[in-house]
Amino acid sequence: MGNRGFGGHLVVRSDDDLRRLAKMINETYYNLPLKNAIFHKQYSTWGTCSLKTRQIYVSHRLKGAPLELIWYVLTHEICHLEERSHNARYWNLVSKACPDYINCRKMLKAYAMQNYAKEGYR
Ligand SMILES: [Zn+2]
Repeated sequence: MGNRGFGGHLVVRSDDDLRRLAKMINETYYNLPLKNAIFHKQYSTWGTCSLKTRQIYVSHRLKGAPLELIWYVLTHEICHLEERSHNARYWNLVSKACPDYINCRKMLKAYAMQNYAKEGYR
C-alpha cells in the first residue's frame, strides 16, 4: 500500500493501491467475484462498476483523498456487484464494511465542495 503499508498513514494514489484495498475489503467482508479496481477519469460520479467485467472504476479525483472516502466508494461499488439498487438490503451490505457510511457520504460531499465546487458534484 503506497510506501507505508497498513497501519501507517495510508495514501491510495495508484491503481495498484486501489486494487489491493478493494481486494482486502472484498475478501474481508463480501467475497464476491471481483476482477479489478482502477482509477478512471470520471467527473460526474465517484465510482462506477461493471457487472459484466466485475471491474470497479473510481474517479481520478479521489487519488490521494482521505482513506475513509476511498474505502467508502470502493465498498459502495463492491456492494453493487451483489445488489444493484440502493434499497435496504443494499445499505445493510454496505454497513458491514462501512458502518459509518452515512458520515462518509457527508465527508464526500464536503471533500467535493472543498476541491471541486466549481465543477459540480452530486
Ligand atoms: Zn450506488
